[in-house]
Amino acid sequence: MKVTEHLEKAEGKPLFSFEIVPPKKGSNINDLYANVDPLMEFNPPFIDVTTSREEYVYIEKDGLFDRKITRMRPGTVGICASLQYKYNVDAIPHVLCGGFTKEETEYLLVDCHYLGIDNLVALRGDPMKGEKYFVPAEGGHSFAIDLVKQIRNMNEGQFLHGNVEMKHKPDFCIGVAGYPEKHIEAPSLDEDLRRLKEKVDAGADYVVTQMFFDNQRYFRFVEAAREIGITVPIIPGIKPVAVKRHLQILPQVFWLDMPSSLIKDIETAKDNKAVRQIGVEFAIQQSKELIEFGAPCVHYYSMGKSDNIKAIASEVF
Ligand code: FAD
Repeated sequence: MKVTEHLEKAEGKPLFSFEIVPPKKGSNINDLYANVDPLMEFNPPFIDVTTSREEYVYIEKDGLFDRKITRMRPGTVGICASLQYKYNVDAIPHVLCGGFTKEETEYLLVDCHYLGIDNLVALRGDPMKGEKYFVPAEGGHSFAIDLVKQIRNMNEGQFLHGNVEMKHKPDFCIGVAGYPEKHIEAPSLDEDLRRLKEKVDAGADYVVTQMFFDNQRYFRFVEAAREIGITVPIIPGIKPVAVKRHLQILPQVFWLDMPSSLIKDIETAKDNKAVRQIGVEFAIQQSKELIEFGAPCVHYYSMGKSDNIKAIASEVF
């Protein structure tokens, strides 16, 4: 079922959803299930599975380092299929421009269609680790909007080599990313919103936001989006702080501000166990306020261990 249908069916009751990251290759799928299992009692209608792009690894050979390119966390679509099968939940693969040619994307979409995946999140992807700017794969897309268009075209039976008569057309519901605090590369928040509107006009059905800690930013973002005619659901994505180092890492990677009270609490916490608890309490308040505002769903970035997400969901849903 589509995300938009889940939201409609909920009739205003806020939904709980979360995102997981595929384990590093060589891991067992049961390790992943161990983190998903505890969250299923909160009836997530959908679970997102991220896609990690390729990276360089350095392998020592005879005292010299050989540089190889590899994907350390492959398996997104396979994981989605296994989640759908095991839990009877909609699993949503994140589809990236970065690292994929248009043909590879087409084959991936065909796999998703065969596997009964109804939803996709279309993303550009970040620059490769160690690179400053995003460079598309040769023959790949440069912006998420191009991916949205490719998916929409396939919904219409238009493949890269031409039109195909299809008895069972895919009808993918498409999510795209939104940034309440602006995407790092955008020249302004208004310009970024204009780009978001282009993605929606091209066929995106809903928006999921980058994580944020200041709800006012989300409220203003939704307001500004509505003002320029973005009418699709805007799902807030949040992440509980879990370790002290998040104070440096999260603003650096996700280009976000943290409220001073939260910063102070984390700084004065005696250890990471205390920080994890602070993160849980903050996220509970944040979630409640988002729901009061009318957020249709709260989406949690679980990034591995799910005990903190479970603690939050127990209080909120
Ligand atoms: P776009 O929408 O293409 O925007 C990228 C930048 O270009 C923005 O600054 C935008 O304003 C600008 N722009 C857009 N269109 C144009 C245009 N035509 N001309 C000029 N400028 C333009 N990354 C991963 O690698 N894997 C994941 O699984 C993943 N999941 C994510 C999930 C969510 C909910 C979010 C919010 C982000 C996720 N990301 C993921 C990160 C994302 O890939 C990066 O933030 C990336 O840098 C931008 O992706 P986008 O889809 O927002 O890009």
